[in-house]
Amino acid sequence: MAALRARTVLLTGSNRGIGLELVKQLLGGPRPPAWIFATCRDPEGPRAQVSACLGSQSPFSVTADVANPSAIADAAKIVEGKLNGAGLNLLINNAGIYAQVSLETVDSDEMIRTYKTNAVGPLLMAQTFLPLLKKAAQNSTEKGLSCSKAAIINISTVMGSIEKTPESFCKPVISYRCSKAALNMLTKCQALTYGEAGILCVALHPGWVKTDMGTQEADLTVDTSVRGLLSVLPVLSEKHSGNLLNWEGKVIPW
Ligand code: NDP
Repeated sequence: MAALRARTVLLTGSNRGIGLELVKQLLGGPRPPAWIFATCRDPEGPRAQVSACLGSQSPFSVTADVANPSAIADAAKIVEGKLNGAGLNLLINNAGIYAQVSLETVDSDEMIRTYKTNAVGPLLMAQTFLPLLKKAAQNSTEKGLSCSKAAIINISTVMGSIEKTPESFCKPVISYRCSKAALNMLTKCQALTYGEAGILCVALHPGWVKTDMGTQEADLTVDTSVRGLLSVLPVLSEKHSGNLLNWEGKVIPW
């Protein structure tokens, strides 16, 4: 099986759930990245498990609230300083929020709040870290697109697929679905724009996962989901860019 050879990785929402497990499994893999920037809203807060789990070992913890543009800009300055001239191979936009709202109960504030984190956040993260992603692509001798060279991975969901909506509409979660459909569209636009610069852009659905968001009723353990996601990353190439795939690498229709 192909191995992920990204030397520098940045994740959002890495203090718990899927983000935290991604950090753990990346560090425990056969070729751990030289740098993992594990970003979260509050690295010192009660829910910040990264440093508690990993002690003084890498990853490097950075504060980044993806709903706050100036916090993203501040994080980019810190990361650029640490990279000291190197580029960023892999940006994983994982942070997300979810609310149990229906068409009857959703309101303007809830739509905007969710949209800001789930769609605008990944857009701003990619804009802000684009120079570092481009640098990684330029410095690579690899042909084609890959996660080892330069990539934006947006953690999305099948719930953002318009075609698949009837299968799960027992949970309407309107703000979540609309924001993730927007994230899927963003992924396609990013792929069409950033492909020329050598940057792969893919949306990944992690499955229904036992986390705070997925609840303990979910199908998959966080370990299984993240093992799947990390086995999909190394096989992604230009033929996948601009698509939504699941944790087993199967394409999900928009
Ligand atoms: P959790 O609720 O367990 O964790 C969400 C993470 O996102 C937390 O680290 C949280 O940080 C962070 N976050 C939320 N808002 C912000 C923000 N404004 N800035 C920075 N970080 C933020 O969720 P999961 O781990 O389950 O979900 C991770 C991703 O996977 C999400 O994008 C989700 O939509 C997607 N997904 C999950 C599924 C599941 O079944 N679990 C299914 C399909 C997709 P904090 O602790 O500060 O709140």
